[in-house]
Amino acid sequence: MIIAIDGPSGAGKSTVSVQVAERLGFSCLDTGAMYRCVAWFAVQEGVALDDVERLGDIALTKPIRFIHEAGNPKPVGVTIDGIEATREIRTAEVDRAVSAVSAVPAVRRALVAQQQAIGAEGDYVVEGRDIGTAVFPDAACKVFLTASDEVRAQRRVEQNRQRGVGSTDYETVLQDILRRDELDSKREASPLAAAADAVTIDSSSMTFQQVVDEICRLAREKME
Ligand code: C5P
Repeated sequence: MIIAIDGPSGAGKSTVSVQVAERLGFSCLDTGAMYRCVAWFAVQEGVALDDVERLGDIALTKPIRFIHEAGNPKPVGVTIDGIEATREIRTAEVDRAVSAVSAVPAVRRALVAQQQAIGAEGDYVVEGRDIGTAVFPDAACKVFLTASDEVRAQRRVEQNRQRGVGSTDYETVLQDILRRDELDSKREASPLAAAADAVTIDSSSMTFQQVVDEICRLAREKME
């Protein structure tokens, strides 16, 4: 079974996905981490962000693997082409590059195929931007998770502080989030959008616990 959680940056998708997966005994798939891997690899290789051919080639030929730990639904790391990039993909440099990379249709085709293959292996909570609309249009449970711009920026600052990577300056983070929202929503290939059959949850004034409870309730309804 697939639980699709889409929404803009900083809505709390990662935190919520892990807790939902823990409660239901599912695994987690963070599709944003895959786009970040391709963006990081491209930056390392000095590939221009408008070189769609080389970007597509990286997505198609450099394997991305999640590092799993027994009993933990959330992978503890990620590699691309055998190089660990767990922390590197969370830097401000990758934040700036990733939306251009994820707008390239050939990159999306390659990563969506990998995401569908992973999801076919079992029960997954899959988070991203186009999961309910393009990657798993038949997902049993679809959620569009959102929150106000200010709340999302505050949460992302806190997450970066805890991870010890990425900007912790509120204004910088807010501007990055708004810029990525704009690019992710306006791109031609699978833009950020709620699926017609998704339940929208505005988490601005909810605790993560309340959001997790609500998603588990929706998922259990579908499991019956
Ligand atoms: O979720 P996260 O903020 O880590 O995603 C990073 C970027 O990857 C997004 O800003 C978006 O450009 C891209 N992305 C996407 N489709 C997905 C997941 C992420 O285009 N399913």
